[in-house]
Amino acid sequence: ERRNNFLVALAGDPAAPALAAADLSTGEVLARPVAPGTLEAELARLEPAELLLPQSWAGRPLPGPGAPAVTYRPDAAFDPRAGAEEVRRGWRVEALEGLGFQSGDDGLVAALGALLAYLAEVQPAGLGHLRRPRIERPGETMVLDEMTRRNLELVEPLRPDLARGGCTGTLLEVLDETVTAMGARLLRRWLLAPLVAPEPIWRRQEAVAELVDDAARRRRLRAELERVRDLERLAARVAAGRATPRDLAALRDSLTALPRVRAALEAADAPPPPAGRAALLAELAAALDPLDDARALLERALADDPPATLAEGGVIREGYDPELDALRAARDGGRDFIAALQARECERTGIASLKVGYNKVFGYYLEVTRANLDRVPPDYRRRQTLANAERFVTPELEEWEARVLGAEERIAELEARRFAELRRALAAHVPRIQRAAEAVAALDVLAALARAAERRGYVRPEVHTGYRLEIRGGRHPVVETMMPRESFIPNDVVLDEDARILVVTGPNMAGKSTLLRQVGLIQLLAQIGSFVPATAARLPVVDRIFTRVGASDNLVRGQSTFLVEMHETAAILSGATRRSLVLLDEIGRGTATYDGVSIAWAVTEHLHDQIGCKTIFATHYHELTRLADLLPALRNANVAVREVGDEIVFLRRLEPGGADRSYGIQVARLAGLPPAVIERARTILHELEGAHAAVGEEP
Ligand code: ADP
Ligand code: MG
Repeated sequence: ERRNNFLVALAGDPAAPALAAADLSTGEVLARPVAPGTLEAELARLEPAELLLPQSWAGRPLPGPGAPAVTYRPDAAFDPRAGAEEVRRGWRVEALEGLGFQSGDDGLVAALGALLAYLAEVQPAGLGHLRRPRIERPGETMVLDEMTRRNLELVEPLRPDLARGGCTGTLLEVLDETVTAMGARLLRRWLLAPLVAPEPIWRRQEAVAELVDDAARRRRLRAELERVRDLERLAARVAAGRATPRDLAALRDSLTALPRVRAALEAADAPPPPAGRAALLAELAAALDPLDDARALLERALADDPPATLAEGGVIREGYDPELDALRAARDGGRDFIAALQARECERTGIASLKVGYNKVFGYYLEVTRANLDRVPPDYRRRQTLANAERFVTPELEEWEARVLGAEERIAELEARRFAELRRALAAHVPRIQRAAEAVAALDVLAALARAAERRGYVRPEVHTGYRLEIRGGRHPVVETMMPRESFIPNDVVLDEDARILVVTGPNMAGKSTLLRQVGLIQLLAQIGSFVPATAARLPVVDRIFTRVGASDNLVRGQSTFLVEMHETAAILSGATRRSLVLLDEIGRGTATYDGVSIAWAVTEHLHDQIGCKTIFATHYHELTRLADLLPALRNANVAVREVGDEIVFLRRLEPGGADRSYGIQVARLAGLPPAVIERARTILHELEGAHAAVGEEP
């Protein structure tokens, strides 16, 4: 329940299609154009459960990881005009503009129309709970390709097999202080779609900052949010006519919490925020419709603690329907009468052990043990014979039984009718419930980010529209949580116009990959509006973050081939702009050393000369440090180690300048290679270094 379950339809140009997606369980609908080359990334972000494609695409390879199920529909179902008709009918609008569509959105409308038509077929219960489509225009959120998403371990760990005790080591896990399912889903979405415009980032930052500053208010807010159940899914079930009595009780309790959430936000004792501040929080508070009418209806109609199913009875509250109350009184009176009958019949017959009972097959009866059968009066009629007793009825008992059963039947009918009416009445409130749910989700995420910031010691980054990236005392948000407090070593990283590329060298295990990913994660956190793990940070808004890990480090895909690595590198060279952040980890490693060095060299030159993006390149190839002499905006840095005798100690500190040696043998020794092998390796190394020196190469 903490993630979405999307059906996705694609239409238009297969290379840059229009995408429409719907999650039936939450009623969420979205449409967005897919930029060329980003389809795979888009699908990776949505993780669809099912993919809907035009029949004529059947021969093509599926885009990327695709979906568990693919359904082909006739091309005619993806026609924009038919789609427009479906969409207008679906959301009951006269014109598509009413939903935010513009001219030129034919593809989006076609995809959405195909999606709706398909859903109408597979969901005969109706689509009343689908929300208005959210149209996402390019330029609002960042596209994260699959490798970047995975390498940064945003929502899924690279090695799920290493997950221990429910702890998987993802950014989502570290940040997820949400207290509602809606918030959890939204946080996940925010992480997978960072913002790329500064204003919305600043707005979220302001809201987070305010909730960091006022801890008392944040605590109150989160305590109230905690009472709100999954309104999105409850609303979806109400709209589909599938809500159970317990669902309605959950809805009622959630609606009761809404005004309290709002009150917690208002915080009477807090000083008024400076002008222009907290616009987002105020907006969300205003959007939080307390739904008094719907709640009042539920409070009047629904029993305090209704049973799981309607059939169990007792769903409608006493005092709501006089007819129902009268029937219940009749039923209860009848039951009381029958219960009292026992005492009267005992007295009349002189059988002290006589009992009134009830079973499903025979109804009410009077039970007399064998020993007393001679005292049974003539008006008793035998109904059932047991081993040591007989069961009887009397005309009087039958008459009262008929009254009770008749009342029960009518009660069941009436309750079912009232319940259906109640559900229908609530269905009319569904769009408002959904809007309130959205506000709740956003508040929950903002409060969670604030809570995470406080708990983990994050600071507010200064997000700007310039070029310079400056992180002081930066930490890896996930790795730091896996070690004892304060034992993670913070590092500074600065990238600027005149120092755009940082080549980070250092032996294996020094901490290069960690540093690289930490920069990526800090940048991403900043662009979702979060605080960041650092002592101070000034960060630009970047248009893309690319992360690549060289083939031999990339165990995940099971296809750690050099070709894949080059394919991904090619994608960066074509997708990166001056405003991108590119993080390359041991690129070129998957081939012979000189091939690898040459490719890494050429790629770096291209990024430096042609693209101008900010780049960090972690490599154990020292040869690359020589690039600093040739490329003016390239700097060397190394993750320091100290030699102590034959051993090395990892300092985890980033220092200017390239690493002078690779320390491979020391690392091998740390890893437990036998001393004899280590000695032999040392000898060979000396010989090889001697040979290089002999032909006049640089050591
Ligand atoms: P490399 O890529 O240089 O081989 P890694 O980045 O994989 O090294 O780091 C190796 C290990 O060192 C990590 O698993 C982590 O436990 C530890 N480490 C890395 N950076 C730091 C740091 N800044 N502070 C403390 N420990 C660190
Ligand atoms: Mg590494």
